[in-house]
Amino acid sequence: MNDAKHLSEKLLNIDGKGYPAYKSIKGSYDFEEFQLIIDHVQGDPYAAPSKIRVRLVREVAQIPSELTNTTSRRIGVCSHLAGVFTENTKKYSGRKGSGKSGLLTMDGPGQEVLLTTAVTMNDDYVEARFFAGLPARGRRVLGRRAEEMFLKNIPALVKEALLFRNLDQETLAQAARTNEDAENARRKLQENGLIAFVANGAILPRLSGVDNRPMRRGAVPFQSPPSLEVQLTLPNAGEVTGMGIPQGVTLIVGGGFHGKSTLLEALERGIYNHRAGDGRELVVTDPTAVKIRAEDGRAVSGVNISPFISNLPGGIKTTDFSSQNASGSTSQAANIIEALEIGSKTLLLDEDTSATNFMIRDSRMQALISKEHEPITPFVDKVKKLWSNNGVSTVLVMGGSGDYFEVADCVIAMEEYRPKNVTLESHKIVESFGSNRCDEGSGGFGSLTFRKPLPQSLDPSKGKRTESVKSRGVKTVLFGTDELDLSSVAQIVHPGQLRAIGDAMLKIKHLADGEKTLNDLLNEIEEGISEHGLDFLSQHPTGNLSEFRRYELGAALNRLRTLRTRA
Ligand code: ADP
Ligand code: MG
Repeated sequence: MNDAKHLSEKLLNIDGKGYPAYKSIKGSYDFEEFQLIIDHVQGDPYAAPSKIRVRLVREVAQIPSELTNTTSRRIGVCSHLAGVFTENTKKYSGRKGSGKSGLLTMDGPGQEVLLTTAVTMNDDYVEARFFAGLPARGRRVLGRRAEEMFLKNIPALVKEALLFRNLDQETLAQAARTNEDAENARRKLQENGLIAFVANGAILPRLSGVDNRPMRRGAVPFQSPPSLEVQLTLPNAGEVTGMGIPQGVTLIVGGGFHGKSTLLEALERGIYNHRAGDGRELVVTDPTAVKIRAEDGRAVSGVNISPFISNLPGGIKTTDFSSQNASGSTSQAANIIEALEIGSKTLLLDEDTSATNFMIRDSRMQALISKEHEPITPFVDKVKKLWSNNGVSTVLVMGGSGDYFEVADCVIAMEEYRPKNVTLESHKIVESFGSNRCDEGSGGFGSLTFRKPLPQSLDPSKGKRTESVKSRGVKTVLFGTDELDLSSVAQIVHPGQLRAIGDAMLKIKHLADGEKTLNDLLNEIEEGISEHGLDFLSQHPTGNLSEFRRYELGAALNRLRTLRTRA
């Protein structure tokens, strides 16, 4: 392997040459304390920055093994290191020259703690992956600048962010403990008959609708009603107390602006662990929970929505329902069925983002429009069966209709951001005020169809390229020429997840054969990642992928406008 001096000489030698001369620095260099690997060199100063990796053996990094000897500790530590590294890149990053010259960045974490490819660790080494804009003036190599970047700035950055002696050791240990506790709490949900746990003292509201950090001033800490309180014993925090949301059907009711949606959003994000200081470190939810909403305009391909919708005008089949422009109710039905099809056991719904006619149909409406003229069986007539027949729980924010009291196992009222258990009261109301509506959900929940995607319907080609997949932020994937709108898929929280989902869609294109079900395909992706890590998804090592769930990958596939399936 070449050494650092060799890289330095190369860079000084190409000073003033055309930008493609940078291609010669691709390779691996021994920097004594670490190994520097230049995986990809950008073609010009305006292109996506070059991909760099550094590897430090554990003896050099000196991160104690007790902080990394379980998966959850290690992920907590890696995420924290990625945060420190990202923060420190700012000191050394500056646009000096044309295009992206001088830029140093890492794809750092947000509030959620995810397995990513930015900083990873095994028993032998710690690896950090980041991006560098190789300096140029116009399209000429600025060799001295590049030399300073590689020989001075990057080594300083690596030492500040990855050597244990230079880190705040207490916060590092806390990152490991926090992540382990959250993971442990989530694992304890099922044995306690719960689908979620919200610790007393948790801070649920966020800084703003577009800023996921905790509200700073005036946040009312969470406090469970005594009758819903449960204790969990965690490896680091010991015994913690909070509100347990039981399996079954739970309603969150209460006046407008009293914190209902804020609680539900915290539950949505409770599928992820959170960094220390987030406020939701001990808000944990069933890892299969999926947020459901109406999403009119989405494409739907071959979904059996008959449990909710049948007898559409014009004889449109609903056991195999396809549409390029689904309505509010059909899109919401499809969102539920698709989540169930790939294994979700908890649905989260908010009246704010639901289709009214999908959620309720009261006695007066039943009297005016008879059942045979209404294709929709409202959710209120199915939600209980989802639990009793299919073992699927629901948490539903519903301030607008008391018809749900009848089917709710637990009713939580938010009052000035404080939850109250009003289950008994609501059941008494059911006894004294009959609703006069008839249950329209005859029989069980209805059957599920496990669809098989047809490979020729997954087409990532665009122009001359046979495979083109790009993602933008957390809302858009461009799969070939199909621009997927994922803005209604609420549980994608980091751009790295969407990049990884795009790569996984390409893999699925190659795995699909018309025989494998969507479930089979998602299982293969999950197995590949659990065996090989996220690098399983990409052809070259890259530092900007984050873990995602089968539900979000499934959601992306299901929104492909070209998707065709068979039953
Ligand atoms: P609802 O869904 O009941 O109408 P929201 O959950 O949207 O209410 O909350 C209304 C407002 O109150 C939001 O601006 C939210 O940030 C704020 N909020 C929610 N929970 C708390 C809390 N625990 N402490 C302080 N403010 C809160
Ligand atoms: Mg609301």
